[in-house]
Amino acid sequence: MIMRFITIDKKDWTKGIDKSRETYQLFGPVTDQNGCQIKALGADVQPEMTYSDSVLSAKSVLFPQSEKILNANLDETAQDHHIMKRAEADYSPRAVVGIRPFDAKAIQLVKMNFDTKDYRDPYWCDAYEATTFVGLGVNQPGPFDFSTSTGTGPFSEEGLDILLADMDHEYLAKLLTPKGEAFAKACGFDTEADAKESQIKLDVLRKAAEDKITSTVPTDKLAEKTILDLHEANFWDDIAFSCINCGTCTYVCPTCWCFDIQDEVKQNVNTRFRNWDTCMSPLFTRHATGHNPRGENTQRVRQRFMHKLKYFLDKYNSGIMCVGCGRCVKSCPVNIDIREVAKTMNGYEKQN
Ligand code: SF4
Ligand code: SF4
Repeated sequence: MIMRFITIDKKDWTKGIDKSRETYQLFGPVTDQNGCQIKALGADVQPEMTYSDSVLSAKSVLFPQSEKILNANLDETAQDHHIMKRAEADYSPRAVVGIRPFDAKAIQLVKMNFDTKDYRDPYWCDAYEATTFVGLGVNQPGPFDFSTSTGTGPFSEEGLDILLADMDHEYLAKLLTPKGEAFAKACGFDTEADAKESQIKLDVLRKAAEDKITSTVPTDKLAEKTILDLHEANFWDDIAFSCINCGTCTYVCPTCWCFDIQDEVKQNVNTRFRNWDTCMSPLFTRHATGHNPRGENTQRVRQRFMHKLKYFLDKYNSGIMCVGCGRCVKSCPVNIDIREVAKTMNGYEKQN
């Protein structure tokens, strides 16, 4: 694993990023009428490296909100009619510049679902392979950030190829992988910095940022609870009472991966799409028979929190399925707060 530091004078930043466009399609934070989002950057658009938080994470870079996955020719005179074939897509090198460390960690959690030893989702995996993640440490964590409780934090390196630290007039860049090295090279950034001194600077910045996160969420007892006890606990009706099933919490979540499949026919072409879906919608689990195993609001809310805080934890033994970005807390129109739910689940004792 490569691990070295370089410094990037901010005066050289724009030129370097523009140079990288010869090799990479760039994604990064941009603000429009819908707030800050991580999106594909137009030829003359720079990533906004001073953003505080983004409404949506970078998950759509690998898992678009709507993605063509297969198509078939319906013309019966064609030899291959009605045979589903993988839709063409561009998997040339791309880089997400300015991704927050907790969002990079979220991609590693999603990877556990899409890239397993038994099954590889080819769309997600090909996009992942094509992508370089250039992280930007969070000097000023927002009020909803509880990433230090979820095994990430403002300067976490997991899932990143480069970690940038904003040091006023320059970026200190920690090159973590060969992909990160290649991106720095494509930008023409190569001013070597002393590794020991740089790490000390980074640690000071990390500690200062971590100290600003005041929200802590207990998760230490979740593993020892039994699924059935939590499933049958008496608090779910209260938690779910005000939920309007809008699905916002799942769409903004960098670790949510539910999708639905839709076919669309236009003239002689059948295209199959996969679209983001949400476990908060009653339609998500409604069977063709009309039966719905999660037809009640409480069942759906319980599913979302049990998946994130218990099923995932038990299945992968790799922490909870939440990176503490706080987006769902900030965006929920009725103030349902995963921090409170985690606390309730963590402290729950079954009454005999
Ligand atoms: S954002 Fe809030 S109201 Fe909407 S589905 Fe999620 S928990 Fe329910
Ligand atoms: S559950 Fe909420 S806080 Fe956790 S990663 Fe998803 S959006 Fe962020």
